Amino acid sequence: MEAVRVRYAPSPTGFQHIGGVRTALFNYLFARSAGGSFILRIEDTDRERYQPEALEDIYRTFTWLGFHWDEGPDCGGPHAPYQQSARAELYRWHARELVERGRAYECFCSTSRLEQLKEEQRRGNLPQGYDRRCRSLSAAEREKLAAQGSRPVVRLAVPLEGTTAFEDRLLGRIETANRDISPDPVLLKSDGFPTYHLANVVDDHLMRITHILRAQEWLPSTPLHVLLYEGLGWTPPAYCHLPMVLGQDGQKLSKRHGATRLGEFQEKGYLPEAILNYIALLGWSYDATSEQFSLQELERLFSLERLNKAPAVFDYKKLDWFNGLYIRKLPPDRLAELLLPYLRREGLVADPPTPRQAELARGLVPLVQERLVLLADVVPLARFLFREVSPAAEDLVPKKMDRARAAELLRQAAGQLEGFGSRDEQGNEAAFRGLAEKLGVKLGDLLQPLRVAITGSRASPPLFASLALLGAEEALARVQRALPLLQGAHDE
Ligand code: GLU
Repeated sequence: MEAVRVRYAPSPTGFQHIGGVRTALFNYLFARSAGGSFILRIEDTDRERYQPEALEDIYRTFTWLGFHWDEGPDCGGPHAPYQQSARAELYRWHARELVERGRAYECFCSTSRLEQLKEEQRRGNLPQGYDRRCRSLSAAEREKLAAQGSRPVVRLAVPLEGTTAFEDRLLGRIETANRDISPDPVLLKSDGFPTYHLANVVDDHLMRITHILRAQEWLPSTPLHVLLYEGLGWTPPAYCHLPMVLGQDGQKLSKRHGATRLGEFQEKGYLPEAILNYIALLGWSYDATSEQFSLQELERLFSLERLNKAPAVFDYKKLDWFNGLYIRKLPPDRLAELLLPYLRREGLVADPPTPRQAELARGLVPLVQERLVLLADVVPLARFLFREVSPAAEDLVPKKMDRARAAELLRQAAGQLEGFGSRDEQGNEAAFRGLAEKLGVKLGDLLQPLRVAITGSRASPPLFASLALLGAEEALARVQRALPLLQGAHDE
């Protein structure tokens, strides 16, 4: 059997989104699972829409997700990917070949004529598209137009009758009447650059691509591509148009639903492991129940047979669940490292961190690891370790108590801080429990003023572990600063 060769062929005209990354991932996994090759091909022939940042974004995304492409134009050594802009001559050659074979023709129609045609079609409610005027030009007419200095485009001569069919691995046989195919699309523009259709087909053939896995939005282009293969005397590869990715409302996933740009997920603190695991399930499943897979496992288990036909629905909550799961699985040192940029971004630690900041950043991991959904969630949870807090007086007061009573509880609790460092966690808990009993209050009520004085918030990471990390001295200083808030003012 022929070795599997697949490609991801992004156009650097915008940033990498969930849909594109899902296509990249499925191609990558298919290549790995079949022991084949995965090619990255930058389709950058549309020079007007080209954005250098979009190219950067492709590399950044691949690095972040841990994808590697297997070859590039300079075989051997670390490869740059294929870039179509460096291959323009190849496409021109094939455009000429198609013209010579009578499968394509030169069109000299001016932009203004085409615009006028479009306008007339719009006004007359007629089907849109080129009217094939240049398809029947004689050689003499063509020469005359060329001699007048008109630079032609090359158009595909779509057959006027018959049908074009291909077999889709997922969707089955797809047959299109040729009269329904968009009339005679441009293959080569007058600047000598190819359009997507020509460059894509020529490269897929020359790169010996065996399977094309791509989004269903490309489905309408496929009959054209099949015609190009036929026109050049080539056999098309196998096609597999991947199921759509929808938002919860059944519409195509877009910004309206939430983040879709990969960079945005990264900034918010999603882990690549979680993203990959979740995206792998958008249109593919291993069985009815398994859902946790590492990239290595997916590389082994992926198969086209387990793709689903039905559209996939992107569920942000499920992705969050995966993220929390993978955060909990991280070795603490690694998590500390991953959290640092988020703390730095908020100005909580310096770059590089001071020794105390580094100690706190490591020490806070056990406090937050179970609670983080996104890495960025560390900021509100751990801010109190790096910054003074400004508690609200009303938060210091447990329900059904007054400020005087809260102040009393805070003083009593602070008294326990003296011996805090010399006891272990259980010892501390026992000491506070004993005190609560003695004072006739619930442990939660005793701890509330202390928790708020220390962390600034009623919902904090575990209090004793937080106190241990912050140190009794700083904790006492915070209690001293909080006490005046409970004096003098009216009772709640
Ligand atoms: N350049 C196209 C894109 O941006 C490639 C489509 C295909 O895979 O054929 O997605």
